[in-house]
Amino acid sequence: MAEPYAGLYLVGGTVRDILLGRPNFDVDVAVEGDAIELAGALAAELGGRCRPHGQFGTAVVLYGDGKHVDVVTARRETYAEPAALPTVEAAGIEEDLFRRDFTVNAMAIGLKGNDHGRLVDPFGGQKDLEAGTIRVLHDRSFVDDPTRIFRAVRYESRFGFHMDEHTEALAREGVAGIGLLSGARLREELLELLEEEQAPTSIVRLGDLDVVPATEATAKLFTRLRELDRRYGLDVPDWRLGLAALGLALPSAEVAPFLERLQLRRRDARHIGAAIEDGPRLVEQLRDGGLTASEIVALAEPDHPDAPLLALALDDQQALHEYFDRLQHVKLHIGGADLADLGLGESPRVGEILAELRRRKLNGELDGRESELAAARELLE
Ligand code: ATP
Repeated sequence: MAEPYAGLYLVGGTVRDILLGRPNFDVDVAVEGDAIELAGALAAELGGRCRPHGQFGTAVVLYGDGKHVDVVTARRETYAEPAALPTVEAAGIEEDLFRRDFTVNAMAIGLKGNDHGRLVDPFGGQKDLEAGTIRVLHDRSFVDDPTRIFRAVRYESRFGFHMDEHTEALAREGVAGIGLLSGARLREELLELLEEEQAPTSIVRLGDLDVVPATEATAKLFTRLRELDRRYGLDVPDWRLGLAALGLALPSAEVAPFLERLQLRRRDARHIGAAIEDGPRLVEQLRDGGLTASEIVALAEPDHPDAPLLALALDDQQALHEYFDRLQHVKLHIGGADLADLGLGESPRVGEILAELRRRKLNGELDGRESELAAARELLE
């Protein structure tokens, strides 16, 4: 059978991480030829499935338990307009490498025939990798695609690398172009940055580059939010904590437009907005102390968990530790069905009585199912 491709290569981050000796489970492959056909053959070989994206000439091969290989047709990209998606056409591996973001991500390793094991490194990626340098391939790079500013910052933080002086100057000029990006692309890059372990370092750097008005204090707040989130097992995604920290650094009139710009799901936007608005207010409301448990819950719970979490990160108050540690978990043993058994049909009174019982339970006035039922009977009378 004639082979459907001229060249086959590992590319991009896969090569970078091999050279760095870092584990990477994302395998990226570029083909000089038909990526979808090759992916089909690879899937058959691995006993996996091929998911083609005909429109882009790319495919994902899924195999084993959750492993995957991304296969792309080697291609040239041209940008008709800054920050828009490029026009693509099939090309050789060197041109494919030229469309990439940084020299350290623009290397390939041959997988086929005489090329097997050969490092293709037309832009000095290996040297930059050794020196810890993030360098663009050409001067229009950030104009073509301003998401690369976030990517540069992410790699700087993750690997402890630094942009070379020229790249950094281009990045500073390119910041103005971020406004041209679609909300979805901006969101994806920002979220990816905020999800990384070294994200606090990236936040400081984004502030330094004037991408966002963040400072060391913003990064510290984010670090604290992450610690508290883990400590209390709240499972708020890191990116949402990061956006709350970043949003708090904005003038209040800019918070809503910032969240809208990112086209978040409504529920996420509401959590973040509530944290930014109500977190600091909660700090004030709790500052003087002397509140009962039920009063603390009444203040903290409506915007659980983001707002009370932000309040706690801003001001280490015992009442909020108590809230996350214990009070948030206080639940009644009885419910609507028990009230129905006591003769109360569907009515707003059900909710009112349950709320009153919970208030009493939080304040330590009830203990166990029997005492809840007794109190319910008394309230019904
Ligand atoms: P990570 O470890 O962060 O996933 P990666 O290098 O695998 O790093 P991907 O986002 O998966 O990053 O992209 C794969 C490759 O595609 C990159 O290594 C780079 O060569 C190229 N690439 C990705 N995004 C861009 C971009 N915006 N501009 C140019 N090239 C890009």
